[in-house]
Amino acid sequence: MPDATRRLPASAFAYRDGELCVEGVALARIAEAVGTPFYCYSAGRLRERARALKAALGPLGVDIHFAMKANGNQAVLALFAAEGIGADIVSGGELARALAAGIPPGHVVFSGVGKTAGEIDAALAAGIHQINVESFEELHLVETLAAARGIVAEVALRINPDVDAETHAKITTGKKDNKFGIDVDRLARLDNELKALAHVRVVGLAIHIGSQIMSAGPFLAAYRTLLAAADTLKARGVPLTRLDLGGGFGIPYENELEFSFADLAGAIRETVAGKGYALAVEPGRSLVADAGVLVSRVAFVKDAGHMQFAVLDAAMNDLVRPAMYEAHHDIVPVRAPAAGAVPVEYDVVGPICESSDTFARRLKLAPLAAGDLVVLATAGAYGATMSSTYNGRALIPEVMVDGDRFAVVRRRVEIAEQIGWDSVPDFIAAPKTPDASA
Ligand SMILES: *Cc1c(COP(=O)(O)O)cnc(C)c1O
Repeated sequence: MPDATRRLPASAFAYRDGELCVEGVALARIAEAVGTPFYCYSAGRLRERARALKAALGPLGVDIHFAMKANGNQAVLALFAAEGIGADIVSGGELARALAAGIPPGHVVFSGVGKTAGEIDAALAAGIHQINVESFEELHLVETLAAARGIVAEVALRINPDVDAETHAKITTGKKDNKFGIDVDRLARLDNELKALAHVRVVGLAIHIGSQIMSAGPFLAAYRTLLAAADTLKARGVPLTRLDLGGGFGIPYENELEFSFADLAGAIRETVAGKGYALAVEPGRSLVADAGVLVSRVAFVKDAGHMQFAVLDAAMNDLVRPAMYEAHHDIVPVRAPAAGAVPVEYDVVGPICESSDTFARRLKLAPLAAGDLVVLATAGAYGATMSSTYNGRALIPEVMVDGDRFAVVRRRVEIAEQIGWDSVPDFIAAPKTPDASA
């Protein structure tokens, strides 16, 4: 049997008296209090990741904006704000969430390929640090909106460096054929157009080449391209002062080697550091993924004769990554298996009416029984934020543990409340009551 706890960082997760604990709190106790399934985050581990990145990049003067699409919970954002970390946002909704959590507008960067006029205007009104613009069409929209407000907007242009991030096709973003960024060669020919803008100051260039990148190699190549493009534009009189190095730093989910923040610092030192630009990164996953788990209860162990299914009460609507990206999450029992327990092979599935609602196939685990608790590891990133109510299911709670305390940081949104989100218009006949037809 593989070491079941290998993907749970030891600083935050450990068995005590045979019960899996997050810091000082037994997961079984939280399950008792809030019901299952639920997400659970370790505040200590979140701080540990934030501080590790700051320790690696701080000496190079690199500022950090957390890409909050990985985890937008207010408690997580407030924790990072207290660590001096800002936000990288991709929508007006995330802008509102970041500001509500106490992240200063001056520490917010707005990325995204399809910003609406309303979203851009809200960002200008809030006075955020920088808008990362992805096309000339968007640049002209920012110009118009900033002119209407009588202000000058500071923007960075996201370039497409045409590098292969060596990751899953659905999360690569830095190839020419991806929808993201501006082609570098086109950009260099448009210096006069950039200088002619009266209400937009192009202060920098930005990149983001993809997600779950496991080595510094692709970053080295991308940062070199970024620096060359910036130097070219600067030589043509566009006064660039900032480089945004993007995010995408990977996390081991299975057998991958750890992505090293020290190697990242090395790639930055070797390319863009000390070249007269203010530097920033936009990590999402790498700050939050392994600080979070999804806790679920086994609903049934179904004996299908030729194989065994462990049917959980969590499903693809709660954690979509396995169904969407064929992603792996280690599955770990909350009660430590008895010594010498003989492993059984399970397909671990959710209750949703799709075969894609599968968390693991042919996984060897100590024998499970209905009612047992399990955790899906490394679920702190792109878990809760990608959840839905598919199959008429509740939005599940998020819990944060800090030392020996825990708190529900998002309550469960039950179906009664969700029904209230809908309305039936007058032109749809209401069912007649027996009285009305009499
Ligand atoms: C998603 C995204 C990030 C963060 O990616 P991670 O893989 O979670 O680090 C950073 N910048 C932009 C523009 C993004 O879209």
